Amino acid sequence: MEIARRTLERWLGGSEVTGAEAERTRVFRNGRRSDFERLRGRLARAERHGKLLLVGLESGGGFLSHLGMTGKWVRRPAGEAVPYSRARLQLADGTVVHYRDPRLFGRIEAHPADALQGLPAVQELGPDPLLTPLSGRALRDALGPTRVPIKVALMDQRRLAGLGNIHAAEALWRAKIHPARPADSLVPAEWNRLASAIRRGLAYALAAEDSEEIAYVEEPGTENPFRVYARASERCPRCGTRIRLLRQTGRRTDFCPRCQPARRSKR
Ligand SMILES: [Zn+2]
Repeated sequence: MEIARRTLERWLGGSEVTGAEAERTRVFRNGRRSDFERLRGRLARAERHGKLLLVGLESGGGFLSHLGMTGKWVRRPAGEAVPYSRARLQLADGTVVHYRDPRLFGRIEAHPADALQGLPAVQELGPDPLLTPLSGRALRDALGPTRVPIKVALMDQRRLAGLGNIHAAEALWRAKIHPARPADSLVPAEWNRLASAIRRGLAYALAAEDSEEIAYVEEPGTENPFRVYARASERCPRCGTRIRLLRQTGRRTDFCPRCQPARRSKR
């Protein structure tokens, strides 16, 4: 998401929005499409909180964008057809910034720029570990005392904003914590390991991303850069044990049964 924010900032910041249009799809289920189509002008700021991108223009217009599972912003020369393009911003430099989303899980809402940060969708989010790097203790406080499995708690955007399925699985593997452990069973050393794993994982993801557009691991032809995610039945890069797959609230969690034992180890 931070990649998407930076690219939008670069594209819109380097030019000016001269026109906007959008298809009638459920991407606009929470906001008026016509308000989006009125967007014009220079970028004032592109912010992000958790998985929400908040884009404000100098003219006072703005919009919120959530990529859902398959959405992305891409830039193309004017006139080039983009499959699954659901919304477009025409720029003065002759390019068009498209929101493409094959499965329509993402959403766009047009709001005045100065209202974006105050939206309930933004206000209800927990702390964002990229905006406020978390200590082990702060991470524990953010997730709160809960019996919910640690993986599920990590992905609850009201507790902690911005950690998706992949980064939650990767962080638990790095921290050697079983994804189904109740969150309130973690001891301080484990919270510290987990906080550090989240910091390293996010830093790694940002450093490794060299292209302008985000790629989803599920897309054909995309290499899997992750240590455990989507690697079930392959060998753990740390200990060689076969990675296992767990389903939690409908999402996949790949984990190493040896590095991430179900019960707390004495180590
Ligand atoms: Zn292992």
